[in-house]
Amino acid sequence: METAEDGPRGFLPRFSHFATQAIHVGQEPERWSSRAVVPPISLSTTFKQRGFEYSRSGNPTRDCLEKAVAALDGAKYCLAYASGSAATVTIAHLLKAGDAIICMDDVYGGTYRYFRSVASKMGLKVNFVDCTKLDCLEAAITPETKLVWIETPSNPMLKVIDIQSCADVVHKHKDIILVIDNTFMSAYFQRPLSLGADICMYSATKYMNGHSDVVMGLVSVNCDKLYEKLKFLQNAIGAVPSPFDCYLCSRGLKTLHIRMKQHFQNALAVAQYLESDSRVEKVIFPGLPSHPQHELVKRQCSGCPGMITFYIKGKLEQAVAFLKHLKLFALAESLGGYESLAEHPAIMTHAAVSKEDRDALGITDTLIRLSIGLEDKEDLLEDLDQALKAAVSHASELSES
Ligand SMILES: *Cc1c(COP(=O)(O)O)cnc(C)c1O
Repeated sequence: METAEDGPRGFLPRFSHFATQAIHVGQEPERWSSRAVVPPISLSTTFKQRGFEYSRSGNPTRDCLEKAVAALDGAKYCLAYASGSAATVTIAHLLKAGDAIICMDDVYGGTYRYFRSVASKMGLKVNFVDCTKLDCLEAAITPETKLVWIETPSNPMLKVIDIQSCADVVHKHKDIILVIDNTFMSAYFQRPLSLGADICMYSATKYMNGHSDVVMGLVSVNCDKLYEKLKFLQNAIGAVPSPFDCYLCSRGLKTLHIRMKQHFQNALAVAQYLESDSRVEKVIFPGLPSHPQHELVKRQCSGCPGMITFYIKGKLEQAVAFLKHLKLFALAESLGGYESLAEHPAIMTHAAVSKEDRDALGITDTLIRLSIGLEDKEDLLEDLDQALKAAVSHASELSES
């Protein structure tokens, strides 16, 4: 699957110097009088005025993280927030009442909830649009439109959006900011800013930290003005991460390149297995040639993360029985950590999306989302096999009774 130099065959070549930057940028021992090689956790809330002032407006441990992430995104600046959602809220504050947002129709449930139930009450108009169709995106733009919010691949349907083409459409209009939620791909597989996006945001809670022990958001930008505004809002709104979380996330980043390669290899093995299995209706994985936008994925990304969505054959009962019988995969929300997880979007992560909208998106009762971790792939396949067996025998039990 891998070529020595470029990474997986046919995909975008890997970004050069990534691993070296992940390990060294922002972590220079010369920053500290102690010459600590690992950046210290700087707990002080206040600083004897020289560089830093007050820990909400700036903190040395946070600064180390922000510098490292900026480098990994090929960006000039990065800002860290208390969660991915806090980053979303802060970005929305770039707008004012009366402005309009176009949001990809298949986004993270919490992003949908925030735009639909909170931002709309603050006077922001939000329009959910299928941005895989560029003409729909173009048609949705009005003079009020100030922000276009795209997640690629989307969640949970793993639709892939052509970032460059969207940027071309959006930037025909002055003053519209294009945001890419890059949580699923991580900085290792996709660089939205180099494809024309204005803002690259992450829930660092997922792959960027990768150890399921930090809730955090990250935002990278190149534009000086946008950075100044977001930095002002970071301080003014105050949704900042703790120094300890910044330390943990910095530590997680050190192995991002190694983790993502392994997530990809494991996920590809699982996706191929599921696709060839008669108990499975359909598999959606951007790294499979059967994915409708596989060619775009290869042009836009240097690989794929561990997210797989599939439809189990049968009904809700089979999906529930399958999830109940998994042993190694934990039935849990979230994703992107070293451990494998499974979840049922219709009942769990996307319960906030109305049944009508779920149906329109394809989030049915038999849809299951997997986050493939870093375990041995033989063990993952064995666990999936026994849970699929249990789901099938559950079906035959039901038909007998
Ligand atoms: C989890 C997630 C978010 C929200 O981030 P939190 O850190 O949970 O607030 C946003 N976008 C995507 C794609 C996510 O998976």
